[in-house]
Amino acid sequence: MSQNDTLFGKIIRREIPAAIVYEDDDILGFKDIAPQAPVHVLFIPKNVHIPTLDDASPGDAMLLGRLVLAAAEYARREGLERDGYRVVMNCREHAGQTVFHIHLHLLAGASLGRFGTP
Ligand code: AMP
Repeated sequence: MSQNDTLFGKIIRREIPAAIVYEDDDILGFKDIAPQAPVHVLFIPKNVHIPTLDDASPGDAMLLGRLVLAAAEYARREGLERDGYRVVMNCREHAGQTVFHIHLHLLAGASLGRFGTP
């Protein structure tokens, strides 16, 4: 993997703890430390470092698809699919991205407000 000095790189390498709830060959899922919904899990690539969605290339298409499908699989496993859930990926400043290793937020467990506005 290319250098990943972000917080999430440390979680991947188990240098700092996280509440891991999903793992496969490519993806790690763990609980967000500051949950914005009753269920708030982050899904990240384990073996490739992509700082933002804008840095992704066509060669990353399969990985990005796996990220979304991992969230859907976890949601089904937890019985969240019936009432539904939201997945979100923040890109850079205006979206409030704070960790520069791409991650998909899964939010569920309550009726969510509409999308954020300025
Ligand atoms: P973003 O704002 O999209 O970059 O999302 C980064 C997320 O990482 C935020 O929702 C934080 O609450 C979360 N976060 C920060 N540190 C940790 C940590 N040590 N373990 C789990 N989640 C974290």
